[in-house]
Amino acid sequence: MPELPEVETIRRSLHPLVVGRRVAAVEVRRGDLRRPLDEGFPRQLVGRLVLSTARRAKYLLFELENGRSWIVHFGMSGRLLHRRANTRVGEAAGKHDHVVVGLDDNTELVFRDPRRFGLMLVDDARSCPLFAGIGPEPFDRGTFNGAYLKGLGRRTRRSIKDVLMDQRVVAGLGNIYVNEILFACRLRPRRRLAGLTRSQCDQVTEACRSVLREAIEHKGSSISDFLDGIGRRGGYQFKHEVYDRAGDACRRCGTSIKSVLVGGRSSFYCPVCQR
Ligand SMILES: [Zn+2]
Repeated sequence: MPELPEVETIRRSLHPLVVGRRVAAVEVRRGDLRRPLDEGFPRQLVGRLVLSTARRAKYLLFELENGRSWIVHFGMSGRLLHRRANTRVGEAAGKHDHVVVGLDDNTELVFRDPRRFGLMLVDDARSCPLFAGIGPEPFDRGTFNGAYLKGLGRRTRRSIKDVLMDQRVVAGLGNIYVNEILFACRLRPRRRLAGLTRSQCDQVTEACRSVLREAIEHKGSSISDFLDGIGRRGGYQFKHEVYDRAGDACRRCGTSIKSVLVGGRSSFYCPVCQR
């Protein structure tokens, strides 16, 4: 599923193409996404000017002139592709193209989602219930820092992997990046948060920022066919140190990467580099 770096990559690819454009038409081909599309969805979007784009956790936001936002979540397999409208016959009728949003420059944004775990709606981002329980953004040093993690550690027996995967603790991380972050700060996935020192908690939050920043620079990880808004693959999958590398040699020390289940998810680590 697209995690923070992939959603941010999609946002950056679409931003210059949509800002200042007005929504000309909305076609809903199939509205039964993870959450059924609101009946009024097309009406809420048509005629609206896109002022800017933003990201919150794994959600992409198109900020509209009326203070509301078109909010998109990509679920497991969702994609948003920008293209010229009706450039190729047949292209417009893709089987998994569930929503087409036409812009006033004869381009369109196509929401393609084979598994239909994505969702979209128009709402006020400041009061949208989807964001109510989501934790701080990892790039926000003021709220996501070692003191915050250390404080959580006093109240939980959970593993560091489990805690970082929890959207209520920190927004936007998933299995790929939590594995990479734990390699970057040299901690095994099963280590308990409660057992970490304040300095280790600082290192965890800094590792979150450095891994995510680098992943965004490489335009995300193209696993399960991730593409950005104009169809480009990401490059960060070639930089993964541990994710999906069980049995391969650690690039730092040469030891075989191990795989264990933590919270039902595959976790990968180097038994020498990570303690
Ligand atoms: Zn190693």
